Amino acid sequence: MDALLAEIRNCRACTAHLPLGPRPIVQASAPARLLLIGQAPSMTVHTTGVPWNDKSGEQLRRWLGIDREVFYDATRVALMPMGFCYPGRGISGDLPPRRECAELWHASLLAQMKQVELTLLIGQYAQRQFLGATRKAGVTETVEAFAEYAPRFMPLPHPSPRNTGWFKQHPWFERDVLPVLRERVRQALTSTFVP
Ligand code: SF4
Repeated sequence: MDALLAEIRNCRACTAHLPLGPRPIVQASAPARLLLIGQAPSMTVHTTGVPWNDKSGEQLRRWLGIDREVFYDATRVALMPMGFCYPGRGISGDLPPRRECAELWHASLLAQMKQVELTLLIGQYAQRQFLGATRKAGVTETVEAFAEYAPRFMPLPHPSPRNTGWFKQHPWFERDVLPVLRERVRQALTSTFVP
C-alpha cells in the first residue's frame, strides 16, 4: 500500500487540465473498515493537503458521528475521492472530478483494502460509478432508497454548504437516514474482520 500511495502522490496524468497543478489527496490503508468516496478536493483541501478539511468535512463528520481523530485514522477510515486533485472552478462551482483518476487508481487501491465493511458514496459521481444501473434517477431518489444498497454501500448527498437548500427541502434525510448512517458507521468501525 505504501508504494501505491507514493505512486499516486507522484501522479501527473492530467497536469494540463489542473489550474493549480497536481496535488493528489488520498488516505488509505489495508486494514481500513470504512471507505468514503467523495468528489474531489476543494480549494481549501488543496491548499492544506488534508482531505475533507473544510466546511463540507465538518458537516460530514457530524453526520457520521465521529471526530477528527477517528476520521483521520487511516487504519480505520479510507478517503478515496473520485478525483484526487483539485479540478478548478466552473461557472456554478468546482468542476467535476477528473475521470482519469478512477481509471488509473481506484482498482489498485480497492484491491488492497479488503477489510472495508461499509462504503459511503457521496454525491452523484461516486454513485454513478459504483451503483451503475441500480442507481435511481438522481441523488435524492438514490439516497431515499439507501436501504437497497446495504450492507456494502450507503449513498449520501454531498455535505457541502451549497446544498443547504436541499437539506431543508428533504427533512427525512436528517430524521431517517442519519441515525441509520451513524449506526452503520459505528458497526463498521468496531467490527472484527472474518477472512
Ligand atoms: S486527478 Fe488523479 S489522475 Fe489526475 S493528476 Fe491527480 S491523481 Fe493523477
